[in-house]
Amino acid sequence: MKFQKLNLPTEGQRIAVEEGKLKVPANPVLPFIEGDGTGPDLWRAARPVFEAAVEKAYAGKRKVAWFEVFAGEKARERYGEWLPGDTLEAISAYVVAIKGPLTTPIGGGYRSLNVSLRQQLDLYACIRPVKYFEGVPSPVKRPKDLDVVIFRENTEDVYAGIEWRDGSEKCHKVISFLNREMGTEIPEDAAIGVKVSSAKASKRLVRKAIRYAIEKQKDSVTMVHKGNIMKYTEGAFKEWGYQVAREEFADYTVLEEDLKKAGISQPPKSKVVVKDRIADSMFQQLLIRPKEYSVLATPNLNGDYLSDAAAAQAGGLGMAPGANIGDAVALFEATHGSAPAYAGLDKVNPGSLILSGAMMFEYLGWLEVTDLIVEGVRRAIQKGRVTYDLARQMEGAVEVKCSEFGQAIVNEILAL
Ligand code: NAD
Repeated sequence: MKFQKLNLPTEGQRIAVEEGKLKVPANPVLPFIEGDGTGPDLWRAARPVFEAAVEKAYAGKRKVAWFEVFAGEKARERYGEWLPGDTLEAISAYVVAIKGPLTTPIGGGYRSLNVSLRQQLDLYACIRPVKYFEGVPSPVKRPKDLDVVIFRENTEDVYAGIEWRDGSEKCHKVISFLNREMGTEIPEDAAIGVKVSSAKASKRLVRKAIRYAIEKQKDSVTMVHKGNIMKYTEGAFKEWGYQVAREEFADYTVLEEDLKKAGISQPPKSKVVVKDRIADSMFQQLLIRPKEYSVLATPNLNGDYLSDAAAAQAGGLGMAPGANIGDAVALFEATHGSAPAYAGLDKVNPGSLILSGAMMFEYLGWLEVTDLIVEGVRRAIQKGRVTYDLARQMEGAVEVKCSEFGQAIVNEILAL
């Protein structure tokens, strides 16, 4: 593999993909993007946690060969562009990667580097598990009841980014076409956005969510849509989802509506219940009846709102991990932004990046590492020596630096 300006690690092997499945060597090369703003602080805290957990789990028999690739400000310095081809190629070629937050360049022609990464690598599912860690401050009474994984469609809906500014020539063209040809009565001073929802993109997203639910023995998959109002986009998302369940997973799933029709109140334990909820009601449901939900599959915008709301319920974005996954290629990432005001202060919470790493090791099948990281984080929080965002809300907690929190997690892992 030839890259323009990247230094490949001298050791390590590429992860292979065979029939859609990963074949992970004992020393995989994993590209990482440090990220902008607080990114370098976060990475400095997170990497030792990953290394400690891998070493503890496999005593040298497995090891990651980290491979730095660039996006954002560091890429701009090195390549003169924000998202170089080298980076996209390296992530595609090495299949699994992890990144810190990236600042959206102002006026650089990119809407967001994160969106570009997702679209150019066709990482069509944004996956956000939301689970409570004992001791983390939460605004709800029983945060423990929430344990969901949100699968959000990553390529269409508002992410398609098709819109025209009010008063622009193109906007006028669209408005007059619609009013003339399609019988609409859109005012001349309107701005226009187009909502796109295709069978292919909706189905592959729901398929991924159902597969995950079956593999992880989750109770249900809920499609969250606004199909009561947007029948042909969000309503279709739901219908296509049910089609996938019926046609491809009939042996493993049962539809909630079929259970209702048959008067069955207790679904069979061996099957994943596939159901749907209107988006606005879903926000209530997660607050009032969180135990009834385990995997959510959503179009882009609903999932965007829901992921942050759910994360807040479980203790905030500082602790919420995430991943963007395509058919095989996966990019794990801290879900918060680059918080530039805190850059270089060694202050912010590395929890989101560290737990994204835990997800990454789960994706690699290195489950022992995942368990060690999650347990390390849990114990470090229980000791009450946490970063400012948690410390200011946890009674009796002592504020520590980003790096100290990382080190506390390392210590817990080594002591396990
Ligand atoms: P932000 O998430 O960077 O910051 C919002 C606030 O959240 C901060 O002021 C801080 O109080 C808090 N915060 C963020 N990360 C934290 C952490 N690790 N620990 C504790 N507290 C934390 O959001 P923003 O200010 O809207 O965005 C800043 C930049 O990041 C923008 O350029 C934006 O486009 C970008 N962004 C990137 C991503 C991503 O890389 N996935 C996501 C969101 C925003």
